[in-house]
Amino acid sequence: MAGFQVEQSVIGRIVVAPSVPRRYAVFYTTIDFTGRITDEVAQALTALIRDRFGIEASLTTCYQVHSATVQRAQPGKLWRECDACDALWTTDDHVALGIKVADCLPVTMVDPANSVMANVHSGWRGTVQRITAEALDAMQRSAGFDPAAGLAWLGPSIRACCFEVGEEVVDQFSQAFADAERYIDRSHGKPHIDIAALTVDMLRQRGFPEGRIFDSQICTRCEGSIFHSHRRGPKGGGRNLAFAAH
Ligand SMILES: [Zn+2]
Repeated sequence: MAGFQVEQSVIGRIVVAPSVPRRYAVFYTTIDFTGRITDEVAQALTALIRDRFGIEASLTTCYQVHSATVQRAQPGKLWRECDACDALWTTDDHVALGIKVADCLPVTMVDPANSVMANVHSGWRGTVQRITAEALDAMQRSAGFDPAAGLAWLGPSIRACCFEVGEEVVDQFSQAFADAERYIDRSHGKPHIDIAALTVDMLRQRGFPEGRIFDSQICTRCEGSIFHSHRRGPKGGGRNLAFAAH
């Protein structure tokens, strides 16, 4: 998985992203975070971010609704959850952005020169609504995010191997993207969509350098995955958290 490292932490196994700039952290948890985060959980997460990554941060999460709504986060008390949004960005220090995922793709973008970062929840609905591009637009508009100086990470998500969809989902991709067929594999019967490949191509088109887009290539749904998967279950499975902290 291309430099993404599994390690044991005080909150169970985590996967740490490669090539993260100094004073930033990008990682993915494997314990179940279904439901609202409690103060105890927020305490454990901020302690992990401090002890493992040396970053003192308050935690912001989203009440996620598969939208293209982007919100700006600021440091504050221990923990807060933003209303109805699916992407968070910040220019501030001492902020950890947490995104809940089970099969949806977590996308993190950082421009260390301008001190801007975003963490995005890109399921198929959010992808069709261009949530990652929306987050990038917001950062470019308000904080001068420069993709040429930027880095991006694609965390664990359901990958083309397992993401079988109906024609109604294919239709939505075809309506949203003129080149949608490039990302649809019909060689297994039912169509499989490659959201990661589509996202990597979008990031390249927006100016992220080739060698600075890091794809975990981890499929949450495949047998043997250490991550929760909505499709693998049971009962919808649990929730992983994707973190970006600075
Ligand atoms: Zn798979």
